[in-house]
Order: sequence, then C-alpha cells, then structure tokens
Amino acid sequence: MSLAEQVYLVVGMLVEGFLVLLAVSSALERKGRAVLLSSLACVLVAAGWYGWYALLASESLWLLMLPAMVLLGGIFFFLPFGSFQALRVGSISEQVDERDVMFSREEYQPGTEHYETYYAAHPEYKAVDDRMRRLPELLEPGGRYYDKQTADPIDAVFDKIVTLATQVDGQTSLRRGELGTAEATATIKAEVLKMGADDVGIAELNPMFVYSHVGRGPEPWGRPIVNSHRFAIVFALEMDYHEVEQAPLLPITRETAKQYLRAGEISVALAKRIRECGYAARAHIAGSNYQIILPPVAHDAGLGELGRMGYLISPKYGARVRLGAVTTELPLLLDRPITFGVQDFCETCLKCAINCPSGAIPVGGRKLVRGVEKWPLNVEKCIHYWRAIGTDCGLCMKVCPFSHPSTPIHNLVRAGCRRSPLARRLSICGDDLFYGQRLRLPAGPG
Ligand code: SF4
Ligand code: SF4
Repeated sequence: MSLAEQVYLVVGMLVEGFLVLLAVSSALERKGRAVLLSSLACVLVAAGWYGWYALLASESLWLLMLPAMVLLGGIFFFLPFGSFQALRVGSISEQVDERDVMFSREEYQPGTEHYETYYAAHPEYKAVDDRMRRLPELLEPGGRYYDKQTADPIDAVFDKIVTLATQVDGQTSLRRGELGTAEATATIKAEVLKMGADDVGIAELNPMFVYSHVGRGPEPWGRPIVNSHRFAIVFALEMDYHEVEQAPLLPITRETAKQYLRAGEISVALAKRIRECGYAARAHIAGSNYQIILPPVAHDAGLGELGRMGYLISPKYGARVRLGAVTTELPLLLDRPITFGVQDFCETCLKCAINCPSGAIPVGGRKLVRGVEKWPLNVEKCIHYWRAIGTDCGLCMKVCPFSHPSTPIHNLVRAGCRRSPLARRLSICGDDLFYGQRLRLPAGPG
C-alpha cells in the first residue's frame, strides 16, 4: 500500500472516529436529533470516503485531495485570525439602587408603606408592576407548570437560604494572621474549591457595582449601603446539565435553589474564616442579601463574559452556573477579565432571543447601559413570564450553545470558538443543525 493510501485511510478513520464519538456523546446527552444526524453522517462519510478510495486508489494526487481538505478545515477552525471583541466597559458613574431591582419591586404590596413610597417616587413602574402582582408568585398554585409535589421541597430550600441571611457578617478578630498576599490568595482559592465551588476568581470591587440602597432583605429598606471592601472573591457553581435540560419545568428551579443554597453556605463559611484571620469580610447570598451586582463583578474576576441573555457565560460551563461572592479587605492578588469569543458569537447566534417566550432578550445590537456596552434585557417581561409559569424558566440558559456539557467533542468546539471567527460561525450553524434552532414549549401538567 502506498504512503498516499495509508494517509488517506488513517485520515478517514480519524474522521469516522470523530463522528462515532459525536453520536455516542449525543446519546449520553439524550439528544435524539444529534444522534440521528451524526449516525447518518457516519454512514454517508464512510460510503463516500471509501467509495472515493475504490475509485482512485492508484491516483495519489486525487486521493490526497480529501485529507488535504480535512487538514485545511482543521487549520482554519483552530487558527486565531480576525478581530477579537472584548466586552467594552467605559466609565460607570452611577450605582444601581436595589429598590429599583425587579426582585425588590415584586415584594411591594399595595397598602404597605414601601408600596406607597416607592410608586410615589417611580410612577413609571406602577402599572407594569401591578400587572405582575396579579400573577401567581413563583412556586405557588396557578402557574402553568406548578406541581405541588415538586414545588414544596424547592420552597423549603429557598426558606433555608433565607435563614443564612443573618450569618453573612460578624465580628472581625482583633488578631491578624501573617499570610502574604500570594499565599493568602492561593489558600482562599484552594479552600473555595474544596468547599465545592467549580471555579473561583478575585476582582478589585468596583464601587459602582455596589448597590446604593437596601431594597430587600433583613436590613432596613432604603438604608444607604456602605461597603468599602476592596476585593471580591467570586465563585461559580455548575448547574446540573440534565436538570437544566428540563427547563422551563420545575427541575430548573430545583437546581437553582440547590446551587444558591450551596453558594450561600460556601460564602458564609468563607467570610467567617476570613474574619477569624482578622480581616473584615461579608458574604453576599441569594434571596435578599446581595450588596453587589454579581455578574459584572464575576466578569471582572475572570470567571466569564456577559452574553446576550445577560447571564455570565463561563468558558467551561456556559450559562449553566450560579454565582456566589464574599467581599473583603483581605489583600489578594487580582484576576483579569477573560475573553473567549462570546461577544462575537452572540452577535450572530441569537438562539436565546429566538427561544425566549417572553421576548425579554433583544435581537438587535448592543447598547451602552450605565457605561457597559451590552444587550439590554427586559427584566419586567422575564419576571412576568416566570410568574405566569411558576418556575424561573431558564430556557435561554438551556438553549445557549455554550451550555453544552464539558465533553471532548464540545471542548474541541469551544477551543475553536475561542480562537477563530470561522469556528464561531460554523458552530452556530452546527448547533442549529444538530440541536434544532427552535424549541417546542412543553404543555403544563394535566
Ligand atoms: S429566563 Fe426565560 S423569560 Fe427570562 S430571559 Fe430567559 S428565556 Fe426569556
Ligand atoms: S444563546 Fe447564543 S446569543 Fe444567547 S447568550 Fe448564548 S451564545 Fe449568546
């Protein structure tokens, strides 16, 4: 057998191996359409590849044409070229008031002092918020996907998270530990990962990402928030792929609650540990107790980029993450924001916007929002939809191509997307082809 024939057959086996791996990996992910298409591709490529061989085994030049095309395709898929966009952040000159945040506005009940005071100052939100209040609350009867048996245990987890709110801060020890900055950073990161986080980073806390006034939680409503900590330790927890795949049904909310509880427990334990070393530290937990806006701080800590849907997209887990944070005055080494092609990818992809049932995610270009160039999410539409269905939806997280599990195939595609604009375009087409561009919404129970 000539060298050209040997090269031809080896490349053919590699291509077939890739397709078999894709089919197996899709089967493990329970993606029927991807299994079908990759199996079909397996058969067609095998027939075409070996048919070409049968025809041209003696014509080395013609025979090597197919391996050369595969090689060129591979090179262009992984070659870094073209412009590389990073998230554009200008100067941010105003803080967000937590009282204006949708989760706070949801809590203002007609007849209460908060309701009267807030809507006297912000009549522009009154009609839209009153309409929202007529819808059932999350995990309450009346939502399209409500099911008591699943909803009640989730509610219990959220109640448990709220009990952590009293433990977020405390007395700082008067005796300071003797750790150097590099050693303290390494120790803190190792401890956070040991406690169960999947990724961790450190940012200098931008004071513009600290809320200006308390909007919810145990502290007095409307009190100015004072947090002068210089550092933020931010960590990400991966959400279970198969639970996210069930979005917009209740399992997505079960997974959200589970990860927020883990994030709360880790943050509270970490903040306590730092205070015991003689440095002020405060945990920021879900359900009423954030003093900071987590996604941009997580971006600053190098945990990911902000995507079209407004969530942080992690390089490893995509949008399937929940975040936790501790702010502190313990001196630490800073991480830097990362870019891995998300801005460019989101410009063409649109999959979350196409599949968002409430129309909350824009299909157009980015806009400057408080100094950050991003896609402005219509939070009102999103939360209205949550209340109408009784879960926290998560469809955008589920359909995002970055949310695929961390398998050799998806990691290979991620590696290409990180470098090459061509890889991003091909991946968007491939994702639509193998996983479908539009999802069909499930009917409610009964
Ligand atoms: S959670 Fe659902 S409603 Fe909200 S932005 Fe995502 S897809 Fe749209
Ligand atoms: S679904 Fe597409 S457009 Fe939306 S955040 Fe993910 S990559 Fe960006």
